[in-house]
Amino acid sequence: NRRIVLASRPHGEPTPAHFRLERGTVPVAHDGEVLLRNHYLSLDPYMRGRMSAAKSYAKPVEINDVMVGATVSEVVASHHPGFAVGETVLAYGGWQDFAVSNGQGLRKLDASAAPVTTALGVLGMPGMTAYTGLLTIGAPKAGETVVVAAATGPVGSLVGQIARLKGARTVGIAGGADKCRHLTEDLGFDAAVDHRSGDLPAALAAACPDGIDVYFENVGGAVFDAVLPLLNDFARIPVCGLVANYNMTELPPGPDRVPALMRAVLSKRLTFRGFIVSDFADQGPAFLEEVGQWLREGKIRYREDVVEGLESAPEAFIGLLKGRNFGKLVVKL
Ligand code: NDP
Repeated sequence: NRRIVLASRPHGEPTPAHFRLERGTVPVAHDGEVLLRNHYLSLDPYMRGRMSAAKSYAKPVEINDVMVGATVSEVVASHHPGFAVGETVLAYGGWQDFAVSNGQGLRKLDASAAPVTTALGVLGMPGMTAYTGLLTIGAPKAGETVVVAAATGPVGSLVGQIARLKGARTVGIAGGADKCRHLTEDLGFDAAVDHRSGDLPAALAAACPDGIDVYFENVGGAVFDAVLPLLNDFARIPVCGLVANYNMTELPPGPDRVPALMRAVLSKRLTFRGFIVSDFADQGPAFLEEVGQWLREGKIRYREDVVEGLESAPEAFIGLLKGRNFGKLVVKL
């Protein structure tokens, strides 16, 4: 059994030295438990938070503990009445070949209904994040302009496609020409803006001639700075993630911009609302039903970035925080 543990806590960007690959025996499932062989591991930006001891909405991974993560896994031994050997489940198996589970939180997957890896992306936690945050907080109306950054990732790509299905004009922000082309040519975004190609504020303003009614915040940083002046009165801003800040070690220099932000919040009557996908757990069935249907009807598309081998996980994860992934990042174990 190979496993990757947290070797030390990063200050700033993680490096491979913050992880350690260990080899051990395969764990044993006892009464009421199943033994899982993990086949796919999801890599997600939230894992950067788990590497840090700073107080957050979830507990950190302890030093020398296995890195956490969602997995698509096969039941290879069962002492649990609800699960049979050979079944495929969505689990929280972590960065390792095998895991033991008491069955709590496992979701059985039907490979004939959808490719199993979709349970980690478009039909999983990231997809549900897009669906709930956009529809409950952003509530886009036909004809409005919806902007999302990290727009080719599993969250952003679904935000834009659902907004389009609701009749909104959709603008995606992504890093690089290939990602921007993917947004407009494959995913049906009305416009795409490359945040790495120079004058982002001007390019975004040109792409949003009627201003911005919903900004789905995935990124923060310079992208948010470009968005703020374009927000319309009564704009809604679901605050989902701030990936540009996750490796930040101190506040950026410069004048305090909170007063200007608060002035905009007041004078434009903006609604900012942070959320964690688990806040909307009750919408899980509706999400699976509706997004599953859109997927089957070909109304939405998704893209995966699959890397091979557990040992590739640290580098792939480090790259995720810098935009080296193109689509939902998954490790095939
Ligand atoms: P992605 O696959 O989209 O990966 C993150 C992307 O962020 C990168 O690919 C990169 O895309 C972009 N990025 C990184 N740094 C910057 C930067 N400085 N400026 C602009 N863009 C940057 O990830 P997900 O779709 O899984 O997640 C998207 C966001 O949603 C994250 O912030 C994540 O933390 C958040 N999230 C929140 C949840 C919640 O419950 N609130 C649940 C799930 C996710 P590019 O190359 O295009 O710049």
